[in-house]
Amino acid sequence: MHSSDTAEKPHRIVIVGGGVGGLTLATRLGETLEKDRFTEVLLLDGSSTHFWKPLLHEAAAGRLDPAAHEIQYAVHAKMNGFLFEQGMLVSVDRTCRTVTIDALQDDRGREIVPARTIRFDTLVLALGSVTNYFSVPGAQMNALSLENLSDAKSFRQKLVEVCTRANHIRSTNRAAQRRPLAINIIGAGATGVELAAALRDSLHAMHEYKIYDLDPSVDFDIRVIEAGNRILPALTSKVSDEAAQILKNIGVEVLTQTKIVEVAPDAVITGDGRRLPGDITIWAAGVSGPPVLRAVEGIEVTTNAQVLVTPTLQTTKDPDIFAIGDCAACPIDAKSFLAPRAQVAGQQADFLAGALIQYMQGRSLEPFDYHDAGSLIGFGHAGAVGSIAGLFDRPLFVRGWFATIVYRFLYRRHMVKVSGLRQASIDSVGHWLRRREPTVRLN
Ligand SMILES: Cc1cc2nc3c(=O)[nH]c(=O)nc-3n(C[C@H](O)[C@H](O)[C@H](O)COP(=O)(O)OP(=O)(O)OC[C@H]3O[C@@H](n4cnc5c(N)ncnc54)[C@H](O)[C@@H]3O)c2cc1C
Repeated sequence: MHSSDTAEKPHRIVIVGGGVGGLTLATRLGETLEKDRFTEVLLLDGSSTHFWKPLLHEAAAGRLDPAAHEIQYAVHAKMNGFLFEQGMLVSVDRTCRTVTIDALQDDRGREIVPARTIRFDTLVLALGSVTNYFSVPGAQMNALSLENLSDAKSFRQKLVEVCTRANHIRSTNRAAQRRPLAINIIGAGATGVELAAALRDSLHAMHEYKIYDLDPSVDFDIRVIEAGNRILPALTSKVSDEAAQILKNIGVEVLTQTKIVEVAPDAVITGDGRRLPGDITIWAAGVSGPPVLRAVEGIEVTTNAQVLVTPTLQTTKDPDIFAIGDCAACPIDAKSFLAPRAQVAGQQADFLAGALIQYMQGRSLEPFDYHDAGSLIGFGHAGAVGSIAGLFDRPLFVRGWFATIVYRFLYRRHMVKVSGLRQASIDSVGHWLRRREPTVRLN
């Protein structure tokens, strides 16, 4: 491990995590501070590319080509006036004002770059979240998760393997009993519900292209399993009811008030003792802050491992350390925190892009003010449903083509923020031109 430069240097803002919040912040600060000799912005991320997390379910179901939506951090940094270094955060030393990132290894585990210790003057933690398995036996070992692109690729690969095996058995032994392939999605939040719909689309596309001799309407059981008494518990009951109806229409089974108490390699076990077969089980029942944050001395975390921040997004004991997005517990009132959502991370990044400059100038900060623009749930070919902020911020229920357009617009807006209008428009045209390519990927 080597220590990077300690001589007199510009004020360094280090942002750890280049997701929805971190990349937006780095881009905006880079644009503002590019010509400022006295300040530099450094983004750290464990990955070499950015992928907008709310698209992960589409990548998992094989509905899009991830490469067409990835942004190379190193190139993006060069074009937007900030620095980038790849590596996973392993520790923060508040006394020495340094962070340490892990060594980079190749796919055989050989070291490419050693661990590095990097100084900071201002630190922004934007590490996102990890899957919360709630200590359910077997869940971490036997269920897949959907935290990043590599998880999405693993899911797609597993889906292809399961279909290929079933197809082979059926084509070589016509008399074989046709048991439907069971896919269990644990958790009926946005991730679980959107994944179920994307999977349905994907299986129909596979059938259309005659990739497998498997009929989506009889050969697959897709189940969304929820412990609470309705799906999408964070949204209004009207959105939840409409979403449940759409899932029913597209042939997804919804089990509410069903708690999973164990995940076996080939089944899930419910609280009332039922054993539901599972060729694939995916755990989408909740998130928590990344474990690395629990170990930082002097940073207060909640029981869910999220960093506790003040209304100005500063950590409670160290005003030079900020946290945004899923990894931050930003108070709404004495009892509750903002939910881990892309629009929260994006708005906090926009806020901090201005607030950090004021902070460096020694000015006091206004509190972060969150505006809920609503929530939309996408069902692929079955459209979208949700609520958007209407007049006087009153939620307006939307569905059909209008909801689908707004849903698609959310991703485009992120791309405009990060890549600029010109590049985002070129990318959109590229995606549009490729729309006639097969809508399912097998690799
Ligand atoms: C399938 C799915 C669908 C979703 N749909 C919606 C939706 O419709 N609307 C909505 O509002 N929200 C949605 N979300 C939630 C949304 O994606 C998150 O709230 C949002 O991405 C949080 O942004 P963030 O910047 O905090 O973290 P992320 O976007 O998750 O970024 C975190 C970054 O930190 C990096 N990182 C993590 N650990 C380390 C480490 N130790 N060292 C270095 N780098 C690290 C990661 O590589 C990543 O780049 C969805 C999530 C999923 C999984």
